[in-house]
Amino acid sequence: MSPISSRSDPRRGLDRRLFLTRLTAAGAGLMGVSACRRWVRPRFGANPFTLGVASGDPTANGVVLWTRLALDPMQGGGLPAEQVEVLWEVAADERFSRVLRSGMAAAAPELGHSVHVEVDGLDPDRWYWYRFRAGGEESAVGRTRTVPLGRPDRFRFAFVSCQHFEQGLYTAYEHLADEDLSLVVHLGDYIYETAARDAQVRRHASDEIESLDDYRNRYAQYRLDPLLQRAHARFPWVVTWDDHEVDNNYAGPFAQDSTPEAQFLERRAHAYQAYYEVMPLRRTTLPRGPDMHLFRRVDVGTLATFYVLDTRQYRTDQPCGDGVKPACDGVFDPDARMLGQEQERWLFRELDRSPAHWNILAQQVPLVTMERGDPESPKYSMDKWGAYAVPQWRVTRRLADGVSNPVVLTGDVHTNWVGDVRTSYEDPDAPTVATELIGTSISSGGDGGDYPETRAAIMSRQPHIRYFNAERGYVRCDLSGDRWTADFRTVPYVSRPGAPIVTRASFVVTSGRPGAVRA
Ligand code: FE
Ligand code: CA
Repeated sequence: MSPISSRSDPRRGLDRRLFLTRLTAAGAGLMGVSACRRWVRPRFGANPFTLGVASGDPTANGVVLWTRLALDPMQGGGLPAEQVEVLWEVAADERFSRVLRSGMAAAAPELGHSVHVEVDGLDPDRWYWYRFRAGGEESAVGRTRTVPLGRPDRFRFAFVSCQHFEQGLYTAYEHLADEDLSLVVHLGDYIYETAARDAQVRRHASDEIESLDDYRNRYAQYRLDPLLQRAHARFPWVVTWDDHEVDNNYAGPFAQDSTPEAQFLERRAHAYQAYYEVMPLRRTTLPRGPDMHLFRRVDVGTLATFYVLDTRQYRTDQPCGDGVKPACDGVFDPDARMLGQEQERWLFRELDRSPAHWNILAQQVPLVTMERGDPESPKYSMDKWGAYAVPQWRVTRRLADGVSNPVVLTGDVHTNWVGDVRTSYEDPDAPTVATELIGTSISSGGDGGDYPETRAAIMSRQPHIRYFNAERGYVRCDLSGDRWTADFRTVPYVSRPGAPIVTRASFVVTSGRPGAVRA
């Protein structure tokens, strides 16, 4: 990102009465949380925009702008416990010669001095540039884009997941930032909660994280990575979480280990708050204690709708004591929940009345059942949809029931897969009702490889699996009314910088014909 060159007074040209109105409105929005004094004329002594800028959840006429003030980002932020006023500006060009929207937002200490601005009044399907200013200091410039109205000819986005800081560099993001995309979708494992470990590519700065400050500092360590920061500044992002934003394989109120529920929910509250603070999310997602309403819809005109799901917060505990094992009775528990009642009802209702051509579930764990181990006595990961057979069946049935072009996007497993979502994985004649695209990790798992023998073995005994690859990278998608092209973009290593990117494989889904075909 190029730093700001203009030092002109950003308030210039703003009608004074309008300015005061906006200031009051911005302040009123925060009354509910902030009981703190205002820091009227902040002088930071250094640039507080160390964590960069981000934008997200675009609509046809608006987007969320994000930043967070932090002078000492990995030690709690380093700002006094006072509210700081931050000016934001949106322009039609990179040099800000035409500022279209601007206003004041409050960075409150209760929310880690984060800033979330919900801008509206923009035009559909356009690039915009934005920046922030506080105490005479300016942020980097971010670029963002509104989504189209109506039915655009095409739409390009990429989806990513799993960026373990210690296990690899963010080279994939370096390449992603140069792609021609309108949106990035993150499917979770944005951070990992684990303690620092030696002999990795780089090191977490602390032990396993528990407190609000721990989570804030961990997010800061990740977000200080310049390649990740740049990827945020280049495109709007739509984010959801998986387990590691809180604790490995947690399920609802259940920790991975035997931590009592009440104690774990306290930790979950810290994790959710830090997540809200660091992401470009709307105020409707603001957490209340250990609860945060993250599931939502993002429309791309009538070409596509993303149903952004949360398969962690509302699920029942993993059956059979978690792990990878043969299926026990718990896999078929009729009361098992993956989305929870409210989210599942919401999803099915939205699918019922969806005008979208492509209906996209943006979620975490594999929906198709995947076997592991010896084919004679198959084992299953108890953390995935296949171990929650009744909810898996309900969602699959629902997708089969007249939903236009359903596509499932998945992260979690640190490998690339293409799957046919079928009504049964035992009956070879069961119909394919949707396509699942499982994207590999950005860095989790280290260098990885293409592993053609593994791919051949997996595909020979599971006909619903169309592809497997274990390199790092992201999935680039190009949608039109006729077809969806998915490019599996991979880097050969993440243990040292500078890896090139290639399209390792491309798959095409044709409108009206579920199931991807290798291009
Ligand atoms: Fe992961
Ligand atoms: Ca995961």
